[in-house]
Amino acid sequence: MGRINVLSKETANLIAAGEVVERPSSIVKELVENAFDAGASAVTVEIRSGGIQMVRVTDNGCGMDEEDALACFKSHATSKMRDAQELDHIRTMGFRGEALASIAAVSRVTLRTRMQDSDIGTQVRMEGGTLIAKEEAGCPEGTTLIVEDLFYNTPARLKFLKQPRSEAGYVSDLIARLILTHPEIALKFIVDGRLIYHSPGDGDLKSAVYTVYGREGATGVLPVALEDSGISISGYVGLPSLARGNRARETFIVNGRYVRDAILANAVETAYDTRLMINRFPFFVLCIVVEPEEVDVNVHPNKLEVRFRNLDVVRAQVHSAVVNALQAQTEAARPRLRP
Ligand code: ADP
Ligand code: MG
Repeated sequence: MGRINVLSKETANLIAAGEVVERPSSIVKELVENAFDAGASAVTVEIRSGGIQMVRVTDNGCGMDEEDALACFKSHATSKMRDAQELDHIRTMGFRGEALASIAAVSRVTLRTRMQDSDIGTQVRMEGGTLIAKEEAGCPEGTTLIVEDLFYNTPARLKFLKQPRSEAGYVSDLIARLILTHPEIALKFIVDGRLIYHSPGDGDLKSAVYTVYGREGATGVLPVALEDSGISISGYVGLPSLARGNRARETFIVNGRYVRDAILANAVETAYDTRLMINRFPFFVLCIVVEPEEVDVNVHPNKLEVRFRNLDVVRAQVHSAVVNALQAQTEAARPRLRP
């Protein structure tokens, strides 16, 4: 007899969950991105004990009907893509259809959702990937997902989590990035009952910078704007005085997504030239917009990396955009000679 078994669906889901759900911040990321995809204009994120005990994300988006409230927990269940061709021009944040399945596999989840034109909502409760209850519920329009007791059924993973404080720190960094990537959405972040951030959602990147970095960030930055050959670079770079000893205040937003890119970071850093001392890293929030065909977002499941078709062109343009912004400032500061 052969030794190969096909794993049960539950076991396969539990393994797949590891790819999506590493820690509470990965849950928050998936849930908030779902809220954005649902067209929400206001999203509230609440965590308790670093999100290990509870993560709650409430949105005022389109909501789901009764059928979808169950279907959304199936793996590879998505309303955002039909076939592989669509992979080339993804405009939504999610597309793999595995986030809710993975989250539900390793926690206790309560979903409450109501569509905008519906009188009554639906509540679904899942535990370790199994449906516990589904009932009608009076709830506001939009969707609330409550994720409790993360990794209660996989103690080995639970052990790998850090102290609640550190986990809350990861979530907080993520929310800061989400506020910056989506100035048009009012994002509220509450940790153990304490309000940490509340962005106005007025669509202005500068307000988002103010929400995250306070007065210092909002007053110490220079505007960046350069549009050329189908690539648009905009946002803010910080005065050299805002530089830090690490890259925590470097943010790239590519077609609305927070992205990490060492090559582009280097392009900004070299643009500062002698303005920065060695081992100091600039403050910046730069939005890069290219045609969706010019960038592949399907590189890694966490979607933090992208691949540009013409990285050299993008890199050169980021560099020039920052050089221009810094030069404009230097010229403005230079005393004018009288004729
Ligand atoms: P994906 O986002 O990749 O499609 P998910 O597992 O995150 O996969 O979600 C599955 C589906 O559930 C989504 O495609 C969407 O139709 C629905 N959904 C999830 N969250 C929300 C939400 N907050 N509001 C409305 N629909 C949602
Ligand atoms: Mg999703």
